[in-house]
Amino acid sequence: MSFRASVLTLYPEMFPGPLGLSLAGKAMARGDWTLDTRQIRDFGLGRHRAVDDTPAGGGAGMVLRADVLASAIDAASPPGDDRPRLLMSPRGAPLRQGFVRELAGGPGVVVVCGRFEGVDERVIEARRLLEVSVGDYVLSGGEIAAMALLDAVVRLIPGVMGNAESGETESFEHGLLEHPHYTRPAEWEGRSIPAVLTSGDHGAIARWRRGEAERLTAERRPDLVQPRQK
Ligand code: SAH
Repeated sequence: MSFRASVLTLYPEMFPGPLGLSLAGKAMARGDWTLDTRQIRDFGLGRHRAVDDTPAGGGAGMVLRADVLASAIDAASPPGDDRPRLLMSPRGAPLRQGFVRELAGGPGVVVVCGRFEGVDERVIEARRLLEVSVGDYVLSGGEIAAMALLDAVVRLIPGVMGNAESGETESFEHGLLEHPHYTRPAEWEGRSIPAVLTSGDHGAIARWRRGEAERLTAERRPDLVQPRQK
């Protein structure tokens, strides 16, 4: 059975977008994964299909209604659906490669894209939505965040990447950033490729790559080296 992604959004026309091209698009065409995009507004209330209302307690903006969103979630993910349900949210747990890999090994995912000021807290609790963030900045909606998450997940679905190995040495897979890459020409604008890489000594190459990965990680992302603070 292929990986099933369901996305709940007020902008279904944004999908598949970039997910329909390149690696993810080819994988979709092969049937390695399916994308089912649902319009939250189909569950909106009244003649105007309202999905949002003013925040309790006052303040700016609008809030996605719990009842509307719950109906949309229940239609996309009926009882017995064992896929995790995520809500894209700047308040969520930062998305990391370990979780991406875990999702890719599972049956699929249900992703709710927020809009406006966010969603009524009660639906997060009642439908056990796991909040996930793509970074410490605020997007105008969850769609681009959902695409980032799905792009990262789809490439790790078994069979999707041509070279099975290339997923494993990448940044974050071993708590390190990846080593630098080089290709032909051997000499470019007076810069040459590090001699070890053309030496044919595979042990030395592996040691150099490991050393560079450690150096880059210590320089750029000391937080990955030190034990993460809870
Ligand atoms: N008022 C909210 C931000 C709402 S942004 C706050 O201050 O926390 C509108 C929607 O965009 C959110 O509901 C969420 O679905 C999405 N979004 C914005 N930034 C995001 C991020 N960094 N990661 C994941 N989703 C994000």
